[in-house]
Amino acid sequence: SEWIKFETVNGYKEHVNPGYLFSRKTVDMNKELAFVEWKDARNSFIDIDGNEYIDCIGGRGIYNVGHRHPKVLQTVMNQLQKQAMHTHDLLDPYRAILAKTLAEITPGDLKYVFFTNSGGEAVESAIKLARKATNRHTFISTTAGYHGVSLGSLAATGKAFYRKPFLPFAQNFRHALFGDVDMLYKLLKSLEIVGEEAAGVIIEPIQGNAGVRMPPDNYLQEVRQLCDEFGALLILDEVQTGMGRTGKMFYAEHENVTPDILCLAKALGGGIMPMGAIVASEKVYESFMEEPYRHEHTFGGNTLACVAAIATIHVLIEERLPERAAVIGEYMLKELRAIAARYPKLVQEIRGKGLFIGVEFFDSVVGFEVSKGLFDNKILVEGTVGDVKTFRIEPPLTIEQEQVDRVIQTFDLVLSQVQRKY
Ligand code: PLP
Repeated sequence: SEWIKFETVNGYKEHVNPGYLFSRKTVDMNKELAFVEWKDARNSFIDIDGNEYIDCIGGRGIYNVGHRHPKVLQTVMNQLQKQAMHTHDLLDPYRAILAKTLAEITPGDLKYVFFTNSGGEAVESAIKLARKATNRHTFISTTAGYHGVSLGSLAATGKAFYRKPFLPFAQNFRHALFGDVDMLYKLLKSLEIVGEEAAGVIIEPIQGNAGVRMPPDNYLQEVRQLCDEFGALLILDEVQTGMGRTGKMFYAEHENVTPDILCLAKALGGGIMPMGAIVASEKVYESFMEEPYRHEHTFGGNTLACVAAIATIHVLIEERLPERAAVIGEYMLKELRAIAARYPKLVQEIRGKGLFIGVEFFDSVVGFEVSKGLFDNKILVEGTVGDVKTFRIEPPLTIEQEQVDRVIQTFDLVLSQVQRKY
């Protein structure tokens, strides 16, 4: 089809999702920029021809409070009218208020905050902080995990696809199989024996980019225990699972675990401002105070991003969006699984927590056809290509019941159409 041809010609084969392809295939810059976030469309995109697409990918996890949430938008606009000043050399009250708010809502004794502009920068900051706090330099992350693409965060990332073209870079990273606690133990033990004790263990509680891969029961608790046993810091990357996505404000709450450093970004800025942060415990903070180091991002913690994040947190709490994600997510998961059971040759597994759902196909071509079918029916999800056989469903947590039902019905319809071809 025209889609596939264009995809191949332009070498986008491995990256595309149908929405991206759609805009590309027109080869028209006006069309390229043609998806707009319409004023009152909190959970959808509208193209310049007026077609409305239910957003089931949520900007890859930035739209937890919906598109253009009026409170977040108004807060940022008001602030812009008054002041957009930003300098690290003066204390910005909004930076302080946000730091205090994060200290209050994050688990346990996490209370020291450093602001970044992105998730990758948050992970970089956590890595550097853990090195200083422990005086160690080796890290363990997980296979297939995703932590960003800057060189430090890429070293933690566990997919050859991202890593291989840039090897060698930081060599002080090892990767344990995700979910394999025995392997993690063995790695920590062997590092101890050779005198390269781990500074930290970096994990996503649910591997998002890898296809919403779920951890085994009590995984975080067991990793926490191992970290304590070996004196390594637990760095939890909640860049995607945080801010209510999985049915609690942070995934760590599902397991009652407090990491030493928590990484946040994506939805923290309300889908309006780029924003990231790390939140660390007092123990971590105290441990480098004797030998402080310089680490900063010029725009990290700027006023506009801070007010956006403060407003976002208020909205998440006021509108009980984590709770909403839990209820709607459970319903969606149940319904999607019931449908998938009728197509046992197409769908391998549907898994997730809250409104973070992965649909895995036996074959990525089938997955691609399904995502394209959904797109043709005005529902935007990711595509699946190559060895990526799973697409994520992560809509705004504000998605309406009626929209959820349309997604579910359309999923059924599209699967029945695709099944006829195979
Ligand atoms: N960590 C996780 C778990 C992510 O999902 C991502 C992005 O997808 C990142 C880190 C990197 O964030 P950013 O793209 O903002 O650098």
